[in-house]
Amino acid sequence: MAHRILPPGSTIGMLGDGQLGRMTALAAARLGYKTHVYAPGSEGSPCAQVAAAVTSAGWDDLDALEAFARSVDVVTLEWENVPVAVVEHLGRFTPVHPGGQVLSVAQDRVEEKSFVNALGIGTAPWRAARSADEVVKAVAEIGPRCILKSTRLGYDGKGQARIEPGSDPAEAWAAIGSDAGIVEGFVSFTCEVSVIVARGLDGRMAAYPAVENRHKDGILDKTIAPARVPAETAAEAERVARRIAEALDLVGVLAVEMFVTPDGGVLVNEMAPRPHNSGHWTMDACHSCQFEQLVRAVCGLPLGSVERVADAEMENLIGADADRWPALMAEPGARLHLYGKAESRPGRKMGHVTRLHPRS
Ligand code: AMP
Repeated sequence: MAHRILPPGSTIGMLGDGQLGRMTALAAARLGYKTHVYAPGSEGSPCAQVAAAVTSAGWDDLDALEAFARSVDVVTLEWENVPVAVVEHLGRFTPVHPGGQVLSVAQDRVEEKSFVNALGIGTAPWRAARSADEVVKAVAEIGPRCILKSTRLGYDGKGQARIEPGSDPAEAWAAIGSDAGIVEGFVSFTCEVSVIVARGLDGRMAAYPAVENRHKDGILDKTIAPARVPAETAAEAERVARRIAEALDLVGVLAVEMFVTPDGGVLVNEMAPRPHNSGHWTMDACHSCQFEQLVRAVCGLPLGSVERVADAEMENLIGADADRWPALMAEPGARLHLYGKAESRPGRKMGHVTRLHPRS
């Protein structure tokens, strides 16, 4: 099917102003595209520092949204929790990728798991819960070891509570501070992997190899690329990611996080229709990185090669970790990326460092 190609010189509108937007804007600039960032309070943000234009306005400012939409050639996003109404409003004036349909699935864990299960893809057993009583009932059905999560706006382990044999589900319900939850059976995984797949306007896809993710305090600590899992497991993870991207009719980049089970199978944990922290290694180890793929996809360009020229290990610099920058700058071969955040806080992603190794 014919589609519009946006040539270099065009402007990409970016919803959200963090490091993912920043790295997308840098990839866009390399290919000759400009980025206009839109976010509340975005002056001086990581993305605004490298963008050609900045609109700092609320998600409810319809006039500012319209002016933004009219000033760009296409809109994409680096945060999947942009209100769906925003994306729909922008869509009256300019193409938005990914669209509201994709966001409504990705913003809600119940929607997400229902969508994935309807494709015949496995997840942890789960039940929706809207009260402490429903949590008790869900635990009785699933088993005594569960995780209760808020259905919306949870990330990096926030809005989650463990339920163990003998623990009080009502306490877990109070702890998540939400009126809509999902109870998930606890998966005894052997490791966590993710696959990032790009999908263009023409429906073509390109997937990076499955990578292995290690978390610390609920936050991604390290990504090892490729994942040290059997070839069949890696292939299954890739198949799952491609299947979801296709079913969503996604245009852009999708990250799918999965648990590897002791039998070598995979269960989907969650997904994000945007570049993902577990794909940062692609900036230094692949012909085209995940950020470039997003630019290519939304501009109607052919996707780039996902071939990796090296194996890689990416380490996140969280909070005070970034104070190690002098040593990291001096370390031969360490590829340091800092996000330009003025203030370091515990748990805040300040940058990352990637180390390359000969391809396995
Ligand atoms: P999430 O915010 O859903 O990505 O969860 C954060 C982390 O908690 C995951 O990366 C896992 O390490 C762990 N986790 C989440 N859900 C489960 C589950 N159902 N079983 C076991 N571990 C989980």
